[in-house]
Amino acid sequence: MEITLVQGDITEQRVDAVVNAANSSLLGGGGVDGAIHRRGGPEILAECRALRADRYAGGLPAGQAVATTAGRLPARWVIHTVGPVYAKSEDRSHLLTSCYAESLKVADSLAARVVAFPAVSAGVYGWPMDDAARIALATVRAAGTRVTEARFVLFGAEAYRVFSDVLARLDG
Ligand code: ADP
Repeated sequence: MEITLVQGDITEQRVDAVVNAANSSLLGGGGVDGAIHRRGGPEILAECRALRADRYAGGLPAGQAVATTAGRLPARWVIHTVGPVYAKSEDRSHLLTSCYAESLKVADSLAARVVAFPAVSAGVYGWPMDDAARIALATVRAAGTRVTEARFVLFGAEAYRVFSDVLARLDG
């Protein structure tokens, strides 16, 4: 599997699946979640509501992932995953690892080959970018998956630089 890094907006990626850093309500939020729902349109929210009424009545727990349509995005599916909120007092990194591992499992179940990821938990949820990048890249690198490209779409030059440095270190 190839890991690629791009600086840009995840909602513009022509891929099989876009991973969303959702919150557990699945009913939309700010950041990347807001951008995906805005650009993808109401079909995504309708499927999220149906998931809340059925399989995830209590919300989607942190570390898990579930797919919906991608609506009007140039992708086939959105894979919603809920990152952990960063906490200094408690190590929640297993939950962030799980977000990437579970998203790839969902991608495999859909036979998605090219998957775009944001830096889950590294926005409003407060995870330090370098640690978020280390967990993201190491987990995807180690995963047994049929995904052929994991594309990290970083919002801004600083996030892109951090991911590039961490990837270079993993490769080195
Ligand atoms: P979380 O609540 O999991 O922290 P956020 O959406 O707040 O999720 O942030 C996750 C990362 O996604 C942050 O680095 C943020 O800058 C980035 N981000 C926000 N909008 C977009 C977008 N349209 N495309 C790609 N990344 C985005």
